[in-house]
Amino acid sequence: MYSSVSQYQSIEMAPKSTETETETETETPVLDIQQLEISSVNRKGEKLEPIVHGISLSVKSGTMTGLVGESGSGKTLTTLAILGLLPSSLKVTGGTIKLNGEEISSMPERKLRALRGKKISYLFQNYQGSFSPFRSIGKQLVEALRFSLGIGPTEAKAVVFTWLERVRLPAERVFSSCCFQLSGGQLQRVALAAALMVKPSLIIADEPTTALDVLSGEQVLDLLSELQRETGCAVLFISHDLAHVLKRTDRVAVMYKGRIVEMGPTSALPSAAGHPYTQRLLQARPSLRGTIPERLSVLEADVRALPGGSLSLQNGCSFVPYCSCRTQHCEHTPELRNEGAHAVACHEWPVKEAKPNAERTAASAGEAAREVVYS
Ligand code: SF4
Repeated sequence: MYSSVSQYQSIEMAPKSTETETETETETPVLDIQQLEISSVNRKGEKLEPIVHGISLSVKSGTMTGLVGESGSGKTLTTLAILGLLPSSLKVTGGTIKLNGEEISSMPERKLRALRGKKISYLFQNYQGSFSPFRSIGKQLVEALRFSLGIGPTEAKAVVFTWLERVRLPAERVFSSCCFQLSGGQLQRVALAAALMVKPSLIIADEPTTALDVLSGEQVLDLLSELQRETGCAVLFISHDLAHVLKRTDRVAVMYKGRIVEMGPTSALPSAAGHPYTQRLLQARPSLRGTIPERLSVLEADVRALPGGSLSLQNGCSFVPYCSCRTQHCEHTPELRNEGAHAVACHEWPVKEAKPNAERTAASAGEAAREVVYS
């Protein structure tokens, strides 16, 4: 039996034990986003066009949720909305964002500023811009800690040393270094220490390994997972890399063109992906096993033979041009529907018996545009 998106909003991560199940069901999520809409606005602040379309997502204490999708899918805009850092041309025009049960999307900037760096920590893509080159790392961390926790300089210095050691850095040397004296991997570890030392409820890690080499990136993410389990904070892990997300998260939400199209326990995704977009993402992962393909899976966009002639790129499901499963139903935007802990926004999910050929009228003639999903 399937239910609408509003019912889905109460779905939680598949528990690992009975004890966990009881705790998980009763616990208030650290982050609870409901029907969030972000739109572009004109100079008067009037709504022009929705960009993120009513997404719902929650992250509980001690868990890591992955938000995955290609560039431009709305992942980073969602995180900026959580932090209250949307540019002036964009605005939250619907829905709620709650942190530990408190609504923050309409909170005044002064109160939000107090939350950032105390209750919410942010790991940037561009971590190098997080530090001033004119002061030592140690002085900057001590100052940030004193501001966040209101503690004295001696205590703050001791906490900073502890955390530099916990992220496996030579604390003494790093404390007295400036940011340009450290490697990218070391600097991202410092950023991780800075994010965790204030004991936040929520860490938003937005593509934290983008600028690192593969090995340093893996080490930083392993460290993030380890310390997250240790401290019990909630992590929202934003990535375009499905492999990273599958390896480390408890739940995963897949975004496409401003909508969540699939969400559920990470362990179930590789074998039970329900949305054609998620399936294509999984197929596009490079593998070193078996026969190595000449090229990775690509999305073939076909805008010619849309079913019945009524479907267009402007209405209905936004995956229509790329979808080999599309039918006449796809002229209506699909809602996220759930089956147990798994939810998919697709009219053709779950797959029933094979449909007659007449109903699958997609893709029959003309030229095809080609877009590489992951290269
Ligand atoms: S709703 Fe239709 S077009 Fe969209 S993913 Fe499902 S089958 Fe494909």
